Amino acid sequence: MTFAVHGLAVARGVAIGRAVLVASSRMEVTHYFIQPTQVASELQRLGRARDAVAEELVRLQTEIPKDAPHELAALLNVHLMLLQDETLSAGVHQWIKDRLYNAEWALTTQLDIISRQFDEMEDPYLRERKADLEQVVERVLRYMKGAAQPVAAPPPRAPRQQDLLLDDTLDVPLVLVAHDLSPADMLQFKKSLFAGFVTDLGGKTSHMAIVARSMDIPAVVGARSVSNLVRQDDWVIIDGDAGVVIVDPSSIMLAEYGFKQRQGELERGRLARLKDTPSITLDGQKVELLVNIEQPEDAVAALAVGAVGVGLFRSEFLFMGRQGRLPDEEEQYQAYRRAVEGMRGLPVTIRTIDIGADKPLESRHEAAHLNPALGLRAIRWSLSEPAMFLTQLRAILRAAVHGQVHMLIPMLTHASEIRQTLELIDKASEQLDQRGLAHGPVKIGAMIEVPAAALSVPLFLKYFDFLSIGTNDLIQYTLAIDRADEAVAHLYDQMHPAVLRLVADTIAACNDHGRSVSVCGEMAGDPSMTRLLLGLGLRSFSMHPSQILSVKQEILRADASKLQAWAQAVLESEEPAALLQAE
Ligand code: PEP
Ligand code: MG
Repeated sequence: MTFAVHGLAVARGVAIGRAVLVASSRMEVTHYFIQPTQVASELQRLGRARDAVAEELVRLQTEIPKDAPHELAALLNVHLMLLQDETLSAGVHQWIKDRLYNAEWALTTQLDIISRQFDEMEDPYLRERKADLEQVVERVLRYMKGAAQPVAAPPPRAPRQQDLLLDDTLDVPLVLVAHDLSPADMLQFKKSLFAGFVTDLGGKTSHMAIVARSMDIPAVVGARSVSNLVRQDDWVIIDGDAGVVIVDPSSIMLAEYGFKQRQGELERGRLARLKDTPSITLDGQKVELLVNIEQPEDAVAALAVGAVGVGLFRSEFLFMGRQGRLPDEEEQYQAYRRAVEGMRGLPVTIRTIDIGADKPLESRHEAAHLNPALGLRAIRWSLSEPAMFLTQLRAILRAAVHGQVHMLIPMLTHASEIRQTLELIDKASEQLDQRGLAHGPVKIGAMIEVPAAALSVPLFLKYFDFLSIGTNDLIQYTLAIDRADEAVAHLYDQMHPAVLRLVADTIAACNDHGRSVSVCGEMAGDPSMTRLLLGLGLRSFSMHPSQILSVKQEILRADASKLQAWAQAVLESEEPAALLQAE
């Protein structure tokens, strides 16, 4: 039966494909594709974990005290039976063999399928066995976690859907459906060719949405209970422009969206011709178009769209999902160096680690803080872990030997934080001198992403070579809206007069002092905001590679000097959004 689910449009375009469900287990598991050659060893790994848990259960049975209630022995028996159950193991094996899921992913996928069958059972006793099954699977997962294996690189494309429960044997696009995805999971998926994805949770500028945009695939987040409604292998249409997910579409809908998809491809083809056109407004103003990247390898996409540098390298993605082992100085240095060399002499702005809130180091199940977005994140965390921070600073300074490196500090708010940070940067260069390691000069910049910082721009100009406005957090903190919470996403408003005022004043103060300023939040990559930002005097934009050409098209059509008066009127208006649309 066809039905539609509404969410938030975060990455444009239309995707049509079969659903791949990432079940949300109570335990954090990693999701990745194995290589076809690894199937046998993955099955063995699973087998070893299952045997170990079976042995443990048998041992527990022998150790039951005489006076323990006899239900305990019966329960352990049930657990043993569930562990050896055919439906569980046959299903899990199939996900590993046919879809090349890693064992943990296969287990949670099959658990999800069987759990749904339990939910539908009439008999309350049988229904309750679902909890037992979950416990058994968790034991196996826990065992596997203890004997964790490094994450294997996924195959170059998503696996063929052969021999599935389904009748089709053709290669069809796959779309990812999940309750929530950690940024680390997203990075794994970034390497595989999913046609699109949809999640229950997430706001427009949640990090999940940001990574989706960087993957340049249609995506919808905040689609509430989509992961409960969609089943493995359902046909799904994701309309990333409208924020709609259509499940089990009719043939008329498939034809209609297929047409829309082709139109989108034609538009991309047209935009691609702008790649080498200099980014200059009609009145001759040069505008710098930079990219935001998460991994050194993203430099390839940056050059492919004609970007003139990296305005934001979110270095925290090197640190996430590594089971507690942070990258050491050498590993970081090599990663930064790859990005710098990949950009072939163009500047690379490396932001120091911005961990916390919806970018936890380990997983979303990390110790919950009351208000993670207001807690120990970004520079606050770095300053609380000076040894870790110094390691990163040394790695960045060393990478600067290989090209133009700018260092960007996130979330600064207090003068004391600024001073401490700069002292640590000096200390890092002294340490390198003492060790006789070469390091290059870097320009040092600050993110303006806390309202207090936007209201203290003169202080920042005293200490920094450049500023970069992080509108994602600036909006979150100005409007008191959690950027990752879909329940308040309708109040997350980049056109709120207070937000525009903070952005405008920061740009104006930098321009007055002849200091460079950029916007690196999602606002910079939104073509509907380009004219306004130009009118406010912005000449440097940093965004995902996939957005560069649409923004460039707006720049080529704009007369920046004529936009100035209009931009001031927008700033002073009670309803800036209405003026923006009317322009
Ligand atoms: C921002 O806050 O706008 C920004 C660019 O940083 P991040 O999205 O990584 O928090
Ligand atoms: Mg930020």
